[in-house]
Amino acid sequence: MAKTILCSSGGKRPCGVCRNCVLAEKNEHPDLILIEKGSPIAAGVKKDRNTIPIEDIREMIRLCGIRSTDGNKRVVLLFDADKMTTQAQNCLLKTLEEPPSDTYLILATDHTESILPTIISRCRILRTKAWDDQYILSVLDRNHVLGEHSADAVAAAGGSIGRALELTNDDSYWKLRDEVMDIFFQTTSRSDVLKISNQWKDRKQDAEQLFSVLESLVGMLMEYRFYRDRKTDLSAFPPQWQKFAGKAQEEEFVVLTNCISSSKKQLQYSLNFQAVLEKLIFTFIGEGNKWLQ
Ligand SMILES: [Zn+2]
Repeated sequence: MAKTILCSSGGKRPCGVCRNCVLAEKNEHPDLILIEKGSPIAAGVKKDRNTIPIEDIREMIRLCGIRSTDGNKRVVLLFDADKMTTQAQNCLLKTLEEPPSDTYLILATDHTESILPTIISRCRILRTKAWDDQYILSVLDRNHVLGEHSADAVAAAGGSIGRALELTNDDSYWKLRDEVMDIFFQTTSRSDVLKISNQWKDRKQDAEQLFSVLESLVGMLMEYRFYRDRKTDLSAFPPQWQKFAGKAQEEEFVVLTNCISSSKKQLQYSLNFQAVLEKLIFTFIGEGNKWLQ
């Protein structure tokens, strides 16, 4: 979409060959401002932070005030828009309402519920539909990234090409996914839970990814259980997981997904990670026990 706006071809856009297209493709276009969590554009913002701070939005507004090169159009691409802090979102409001001329703001998110209603009401919503798994595989093939995990990546990507591309060769993701599969539904004794939580106590930096992997796996189980037409492939899942997916009721899934999202919140409020993890594992044991006997 950004390339289409910036492309200078008189014919079909984006043409892919004009200077604007080439620069945009390499993320080097001077009039394309990219904002995402973890790669700040404002000076002095820490690289590894998990949110988009107000400083980035202020810097973006400052850049938008400068004349674009050759009087071009300008595009602001804000990935993970839900990661903006509340202050950042409030700071963005006025610019969204009255953007500088020829400036397009594109906010991308898969969590609209985390975005202020005042922001949403100022945007035009475009919902992207989930791509068909076969089509995503063909895109991976075309980009020469087919690998050992491609089929699982497509299954875990929930119809998103970007996510599948990102996951397929992300070794740390697959390692963590194996760990998550070993922990949940498989652990049954109290002493094992304590052993696991103890091993994890110093890995708080991995906590967010752990929760999001778990969330995505439980999402796949739900798809398998309730949306049979998507033909979710669970063959890579351990037997206990498959058994749960075949039998559990909606209520159990609700308990699990609620527990994962409250764990995420508790971590944001800096609760003890080990305690949060233990509670989560025990919840899985409790819900699993109803079906795994
Ligand atoms: Zn072009």
